[in-house]
Amino acid sequence: MSTQAVTTIVIVGGVAGGASAATRARRMNEHAEIILLEKDEHVSFANCGLPYYIGGEIAERQKLLVATPQFLACRFRIDVRTRQEVRSIDRTAKSVTVLNHASGETYHLTYDKLILAPGAVPLVPPLPGGDAANVFTLRNMADTDGIKSAADGCSSKRAVVVGSGYIGLEMVEQLVRQGFQVALAELQPQVLPLMDAEIAQPLEDALRRHGVTVYVGDGIKRILTDDRNAATGIELQSGQAVQADLVILGLGVRPNLSLAEQAGLTIGSGGGIAANEYQQTNDPDIYAVGDACEYVFGPTGQPQRIALAGPANRAGRLAGEHAATGRSMPMAPVFGTSIVRVFDRTAALTGLTAKLAACLGIPARSVTVVANQHAGYFPGAAMLTLKLTFDPSTGRVLGAQAVGADGVDKRIDVLATALAFGATVRDLAGLDLAYAPPFGSAKDPIHLAAFAACNQLDGIEQFLDADADLSGQQVVDVRTAAEVKQTPLAGAPGAINIPVDELRQRLGELDPSAPTVVSCGVGLRGHVAARILKQHGFADVKNLSGGATIRNRIV
Ligand code: FAD
Repeated sequence: MSTQAVTTIVIVGGVAGGASAATRARRMNEHAEIILLEKDEHVSFANCGLPYYIGGEIAERQKLLVATPQFLACRFRIDVRTRQEVRSIDRTAKSVTVLNHASGETYHLTYDKLILAPGAVPLVPPLPGGDAANVFTLRNMADTDGIKSAADGCSSKRAVVVGSGYIGLEMVEQLVRQGFQVALAELQPQVLPLMDAEIAQPLEDALRRHGVTVYVGDGIKRILTDDRNAATGIELQSGQAVQADLVILGLGVRPNLSLAEQAGLTIGSGGGIAANEYQQTNDPDIYAVGDACEYVFGPTGQPQRIALAGPANRAGRLAGEHAATGRSMPMAPVFGTSIVRVFDRTAALTGLTAKLAACLGIPARSVTVVANQHAGYFPGAAMLTLKLTFDPSTGRVLGAQAVGADGVDKRIDVLATALAFGATVRDLAGLDLAYAPPFGSAKDPIHLAAFAACNQLDGIEQFLDADADLSGQQVVDVRTAAEVKQTPLAGAPGAINIPVDELRQRLGELDPSAPTVVSCGVGLRGHVAARILKQHGFADVKNLSGGATIRNRIV
């Protein structure tokens, strides 16, 4: 297709996906008319930075406005129309109906190509008191300004955040930074329910260490209000009242599907606008990108909604190019790679968690290692937990999660890259990673996890999930007596304590025919012990994955 052939590209939604589409379309096609329609006041603002502006870590509001309409007009000759909402699509006439909120007028606009990037809206259940003052969700600049001004004017400095997904956790951190006494309520039994429990638990610790009152397994029932209908707190489903003068709801998002539905575009099984690898919907002249659409989820190959900024930007870029030129690279599968900082801890994820694999019925095994993020002898060494989930028959890596004080981002990005290239745990074991003591270890945590997984695949070692029921098994705790006294292994009252260095001499105290589980601090001495027992005729030996450190987080 000649770039001259496309005369008009209309884009609905002017932030992550929409602005990326518009600018790429212009760079690829100097001649097209490109019209960017945004129903709100601002385009191309930094959604992901909003919590940090509220908390003051980003000092200037202006910094959030990544590209203004003036900039987009001047540099890219894009016709940016803010406060103009697309109300309907006529696919036969190839036109959209636009409501200009400034003038109240409605007009029609024809397109050759239409790109839908309408994003998502925060989920708000029908709660008694939900319309009270000082109850907020966070999605855009207006929400940000509202929260910031309510926070500045809140003399009690008491806030409650409902929902402990990424935005909820970021808001907790930033409100604490602003001097608030913060409570966090989560319906699921753990914070950050997206991740496996042993990865999320250190975040919960960090929250409590920073004075946050955490309620897990207890969702919101209603918002408490005063006689002026201002929020005074929430009541949890357990009946517990939590006093607060600022209530933030972070309960997830639902995609903006109304335009697509009205236009008869296909909504996929994942609940988003279905799109092919060029982000075209079932109407090839209409594209869909961002939180409203579905992507191929890498580990399953199935379409799924993945509400993250990276995919929205990449999909917007390629849809803009495809709309402008008729060709582009295909959208690569998305692995849901994501990361969150909670005070002095960071947790990150790529691909499948063990929890999601189980939920989807996908055969998966996991190994968890706890290791320093760089050489232990170098100042600043800090423990990092890395959980690797893989296919037990092929060794293909399905997902990874990490939590720690430092070095989490690097491991998850390496593993996200490995996933994108279809790596197996054997590939990971051979990765040639940069090493010097300030940066890593000669055997990186990624290698350690991969070694453990390979040992499992090769029958050298069997692992037992950290939360397994240990009853009826011969449990051998191979830590020192002092360690066991200080931190007994949870849920294992009958564990036999034989330090690993005494094991060869004390084999006679154990029954070689009994199913045996060895456990240590993090799994490393357990590995040595398991190998000793195995080679001394113990038939059934398993190493407790991650040892007492991981088990005691979740049992
Ligand atoms: P948006 O960026 O939301 O843009 C959609 C736009 O379309 C909106 O401005 C909306 O007003 C407009 N619109 C809707 N309907 C119409 C219509 N009919 N006519 C005209 N305009 C319309 N992701 C990460 O990966 N990492 C993070 O750290 C991260 N942090 C986040 C923090 C916050 C507080 C929020 C809210 C989101 C965060 N996200 C993060 C998610 C990320 O911002 C979204 O996935 C991304 O913005 C989605 O892009 P989008 O273009 O689909 O939607």
